[in-house]
Amino acid sequence: MSSFKLQNHSADWILPVVKDPIKNGAVVSSQDSILFVGDAGEASTLYPEAEKIHHAEKSILPGLVNAHCHLNHCTLKNRLPLRDDETLFDWIGKVISEKTETSEDEKIRATLEGIQQCKESGTVALADIITEPFVLSLLEEPDLTTVCFHETTGFLPEQAEAIFLERLSYLEELQRRSAMEHFLSPHSPYSISRELLEKIARTGSRTSFHLAESREEVEFLKKGHPKMEQILKSLGKWDLKWKPPGLSPVRYFYDVGLLRENSLAVHMVCVGEEDYPVLEKSKPNIALCLRSNTHLRNGLPPVRDYLELGLNLCLGTDGLGSNEDLSLLNEMQYVKKCFPDLDDAVILQMATLGGAKALGLEEQFGSLEPGKSGKFMVVGCEGGPYGFLVGGSG
Ligand SMILES: [Zn+2]
Repeated sequence: MSSFKLQNHSADWILPVVKDPIKNGAVVSSQDSILFVGDAGEASTLYPEAEKIHHAEKSILPGLVNAHCHLNHCTLKNRLPLRDDETLFDWIGKVISEKTETSEDEKIRATLEGIQQCKESGTVALADIITEPFVLSLLEEPDLTTVCFHETTGFLPEQAEAIFLERLSYLEELQRRSAMEHFLSPHSPYSISRELLEKIARTGSRTSFHLAESREEVEFLKKGHPKMEQILKSLGKWDLKWKPPGLSPVRYFYDVGLLRENSLAVHMVCVGEEDYPVLEKSKPNIALCLRSNTHLRNGLPPVRDYLELGLNLCLGTDGLGSNEDLSLLNEMQYVKKCFPDLDDAVILQMATLGGAKALGLEEQFGSLEPGKSGKFMVVGCEGGPYGFLVGGSG
């Protein structure tokens, strides 16, 4: 142990997440692993040999966990403007046509820039929705731990079995040759058949999906929606025999067995009180992407109700097709702006331990505790330990 370089990072405030903020505290780490979190004076006494680094007028936080991103959308920034009368389903149509018009080189360059932006804004772990395999090789890097959720679509029930078997063998192959974790992401209630959803649910594996993102999705499940029908037809995926299930998005995914403690439901904007009993029972993790929701004019999720139900909440930036950057710090600031009466500690918890728990990474990330990752973040503390939530991130 003594051959590793010890570092004693002290600051005005240490925010361990699992404890109250520590004034004049320190984090001692060795080889990227935390040894001590507590009073700065005590740190110096216990570790006199450690190199001392003082961060004046700063708070130290755990590295951030981005629970929902689409790195392959990095080329879409500012390219998908919505007219006043356009909505999520129009945006999806634009994503489908825009993606085919971008060269492979351009995609790689933009994705590398996106990964850099994540790291520079303090993200240490990321859940990415993988739709294009080129992203995988770019993610095999030491400073960002990525959990890969492989997007799965297929609205035709007769194709469910073949798609499911192909996806499973693809995952097995990836798990053999990649150091990252790989799971399936059944895209959403409107892009995948009930048959395929049920097969994925029966594996019992960790999963992540878009759910209850827009009013159009609610309408689609209740009585069908001409725009989505048109998109599926243009892709040759429309099921002529399809009948709307007549359930809310949350009830529908509960019914197919996808709401569980190891599932991560993304967005969850259009959720009503009638959905709360099944959420309380199944306890899925919820990734909030408030800037994306605002960009696509979907409204905001009932965040306070989710907290009262005791659900684990985390934050995602979503992709650059519906957000201006991939900074989780900016995402936290937007949560504070939208819900000013939420506890600052709760917002930080969403961006750290909430995300780590949702991705099964809580042994390594999410809080400053001995044994966990020493990759932390340093932010300005003007206005108090949580001053960074109102823009003081210097
Ligand atoms: Zn998404």
